[in-house]
Amino acid sequence: MDQFVLPSLPFGASPIEGLFSEETLHFHHGVHFKNYLDTAKKLSEGTEFAVQSLGEITIGASGALQRNAAQALNHDFYFKCISREKTAVPETLSQVLSDNFSSVEKFREDFISAAVNNFGSGWTWLIQSPQGLRIYSTANAGNPITSGFIPLLCVDVWEHAYYIDFRNRRADYLKAFFEHINWNFVAGNLK
Ligand code: MN
Repeated sequence: MDQFVLPSLPFGASPIEGLFSEETLHFHHGVHFKNYLDTAKKLSEGTEFAVQSLGEITIGASGALQRNAAQALNHDFYFKCISREKTAVPETLSQVLSDNFSSVEKFREDFISAAVNNFGSGWTWLIQSPQGLRIYSTANAGNPITSGFIPLLCVDVWEHAYYIDFRNRRADYLKAFFEHINWNFVAGNLK
C-alpha cells in the first residue's frame, strides 16, 4: 500500500503569499508531514497495521504508531482544506453553517477564537456530529474520528505551522488561513 508515501501539495508547491512562505512549505510538508509518514511506516512494519489506511491505524493502533499515523492523517486533511485562490462557500454548506452558527461570519469568529484558545500544540476542527455541526479542538495528534465524528475542516495550530512566517501571531495566521479555505473540499465532506 502507498498510505505512507508523501502526497504532493494539493494547491501546488509554490508559496501562497500572505500564508505560506517557501520555507514554511518546505518544513511543514517536506519535513514534518514526511517524518510522521516515515515514522508510522517504520513502526507498522511487521504488524497488522502495515496494510491498513491511516484512518484505520489512527482508530485501531496505540502509542507512537497511533500518534504518528494520526499526525500524518491530520496533515493530509489540513493541506486539502487549503486553496491557493479564494473560493466561495457553496450554498448547501452556507445554509448548514447558518443553521448551526447563525451565520458564516459568526462561524468564522467562533472558529478563529477556538483555534486561538486551543492551548499548546493541537488542531481545531469543524466536525459533523449527530447533534449537528460543531467546532472541536484536539490536543497534540488528536483526530475527531476516534470519537466517531466526521471531520469537515481543520487547522493546524502547532507552532511549526506558523512560526516561521507569523512568529507568535497565531491569530494572524488563522485569519490568513481562513481566506484560503477550500470550501468545495469542506462541503464535499458533509455526509
Ligand atoms: Mn503541522
